[in-house]
Amino acid sequence: MSTVLDIENLSIDVKTKKQNFNIIKGIDLKIGKKMKYGIVGESGSGKSLTSLAIMNLLPDVLNISEGSITLKTENEKDLTALTKRQMQHVRGNEISMIFQEPMTALDPLYTIEHQLLEVLRFHTKLSKKEMRDLGLEMLEKVGISRGKEIFKSYPHQLSGGMRQRVMIAMALICKPKLLIADEPTTALDVTIQAQILDLMNDLSETNDTSILMITHDLGVILETCERVAVMYAGQVVEETTVRELFKNPKHPYTQGLLESIKTLGDRGKSLYSIPGNVPTPPQYQEMGCRFATRCPYAMDICKTKEPDMIEVEHDHKSKCWLHVEEDAVHE
Ligand code: SF4
Ligand code: MG
Repeated sequence: MSTVLDIENLSIDVKTKKQNFNIIKGIDLKIGKKMKYGIVGESGSGKSLTSLAIMNLLPDVLNISEGSITLKTENEKDLTALTKRQMQHVRGNEISMIFQEPMTALDPLYTIEHQLLEVLRFHTKLSKKEMRDLGLEMLEKVGISRGKEIFKSYPHQLSGGMRQRVMIAMALICKPKLLIADEPTTALDVTIQAQILDLMNDLSETNDTSILMITHDLGVILETCERVAVMYAGQVVEETTVRELFKNPKHPYTQGLLESIKTLGDRGKSLYSIPGNVPTPPQYQEMGCRFATRCPYAMDICKTKEPDMIEVEHDHKSKCWLHVEEDAVHE
């Protein structure tokens, strides 16, 4: 399968006058054409920062200290090397992003028409009429039939589900090669969630758009993605197909996450959660395995030495000392 986005050995550091330490380390991801790829992790795992790095939207105090992010469309480019101006032509056009709370991404002062067509004004040379028509067609595609009415509305006049549909229309109007969706349904109720996920799926199929789904919810990954990377404390700890991850999880952290979705109570709330919290970046600088403080299998070596990412089965990688021969661990 051909690749659309290739992230190699990505590391991100915090750099201020007072502080200088690593936040994200050694991320390797390959997203195939038309693939739906998931990144799952608790808050603080670095999954959102990874997506901001792809969009070249990292806050000033954070910088990419190592690695590359290659967008493999007609002309291949390393996104980390683009200027702000060059990146503006990629954003919204070749890669777009939808966020958890569309209220913050939509401008309260402008009508939906103005905002939806903004992307077209910036990236295309279409006439006013062509833009309007395309805008209405796009709204139709995301299930909004009263397009002309919605055009005149302001974001606060729409429900959360409607706003998210508008965001999806905005994100897909230029037929991007990659759509990054960061917790796109977390703020919505369950029925609308399912509709929005279906919608994203359909649109990605018809437009040949790959999706990078960022979520804390393994259930969302199971429903929408083909491959998955599990992130913990700024690193990928397991990477494989979704089917394989659910059938045969190898990393103790993934096993814990799966345990918590298997034990849903009557109200759909998890009865099990992994004890403890994700360590903060200052805490994990000195750790061997960053999961060692919460891992039920932690050994001495885990506290001091970082395990490698190992291919444990065909097309299935995991980063844990348990996969290394015992003699090698204790030597
Ligand atoms: Fe647990 Fe050690 Fe594996 Fe880390 S390396 S997940 S602490 S067993
Ligand atoms: Mg986040």
